Amino acid sequence: MALIVQKYGGTSVGTVERIQAVADKLIKTRDAGNEVVVVVSAMSGETNRLLGLAREITAHPEGRELDVLLSTGEQVTIALLSMALAEKGAEARSYTGAQVRITTDEAHNKARIKKIDHRCICDDLKQGRIVVVAGFQGVSENGHITTLGRGGSDTTAVALAAALKADECQIYTDVDGVYTTDPRVVPSARRLETITFEEMLEMASLGSKVLQIRAVEFAGKYNVPLRVLSSFEDGPGTLITTEEQQVEQALISGIAFNRDEAQLTITGVPDTPGVAYQILGPVSDANIEVDMIVQNIGSDGTTDFTFTVNRTDYDKALKILQKVAKELGARACSGNNEIVKISLVGVGMRSHAGIAAKMFKVLAAEGINLLMISTSEIKVSVLVEEKYLELGVRVLHSAFGLENETAA
Ligand code: ADP
Ligand code: ASP
Ligand code: MG
Repeated sequence: MALIVQKYGGTSVGTVERIQAVADKLIKTRDAGNEVVVVVSAMSGETNRLLGLAREITAHPEGRELDVLLSTGEQVTIALLSMALAEKGAEARSYTGAQVRITTDEAHNKARIKKIDHRCICDDLKQGRIVVVAGFQGVSENGHITTLGRGGSDTTAVALAAALKADECQIYTDVDGVYTTDPRVVPSARRLETITFEEMLEMASLGSKVLQIRAVEFAGKYNVPLRVLSSFEDGPGTLITTEEQQVEQALISGIAFNRDEAQLTITGVPDTPGVAYQILGPVSDANIEVDMIVQNIGSDGTTDFTFTVNRTDYDKALKILQKVAKELGARACSGNNEIVKISLVGVGMRSHAGIAAKMFKVLAAEGINLLMISTSEIKVSVLVEEKYLELGVRVLHSAFGLENETAA
């Protein structure tokens, strides 16, 4: 008998009919001789609806209260799914994160799971029940409800799979696996049979929201066999695996992109020790995460700094930079929030030179200007104007031979 953890995202439980279809799938998995734990998201659009309600009341809802609100979305789904299972003759029991005792830290809206007490789940499984757990939520040591960040139900599923030593964690969604790039932007994108944890982590970090970053981190760390599949049709999906298990190694596995980017520049800063800290210290003190950073030294003893932040932090970061610019006597400071990041990802890059150069050549041929560049062992990222996003991703996808066979 295998123990399977399945997770169904918002679209997969978006209507009563979809919830009933999920119940059928769960019963089929159980009848095939498996123990089944299922994690569900809020019905599609529900988390955004709740966020909208909060914003109608205040521009800055308190983290604790926002978590109390947002966690209700998943609570609706677990109850409905358990009812649907019961109606179809399957014994099931629902649990909120707090009822399981998924203990997290107290970082509201982006809490991290610290431990999971899985006794009640194991008891139910022994009794032959299907266990239905609310994704995206936990409880702090002090009893406050927390949530794990957008897309956090993926992390609940992987963490439960790790705690229960499940045989597989299956993430059911509205696409039938991980693709070479977002199939909504490039229809000729190809489903990958396998992708390594490392590549998936880069893809997720660089904007491919098919899996939450922390879920991939967790799965890699605890070696949880992880698969992404469609809840709408049967198929093998994509297995996230280790590099050693990878049969065929492509040079580039995928292209990720991120629309949530903004760029800030401060020029003509006196080039003295500590200047980077003077500029970026106040940004970090304001809890703003900085991503790419470039510093250029001018011939006149001054230096220019450009860095990127999440677009939601743009206004706040620009205000801080304007203040810093005044204090440091900088020549100017400016910003641009109509930019995006496109990244090539692949473990094959480790053993091949020339990937970045080819990427630059392909983009240049389309007249796409590169605003910033950054590289690591298995990725190359460029920042470009937002209007070039689709074009850039499409030409790179084709130039690196990522298309499915029918489109190639
Ligand atoms: P769920 O609600 O099931 O968690 P998400 O919307 O979070 O679903 O994730 C699935 C979506 O991720 C797809 O609809 C797809 O548009 C997007 N996506 C982005 N990049 C990729 C990729 N490389 N492969 C597959 N899907 C991707
Ligand atoms: N409902 C939450 C969200 O929309 C969590 C999830 O779906 O994974 O982000
Ligand atoms: Mg998701």
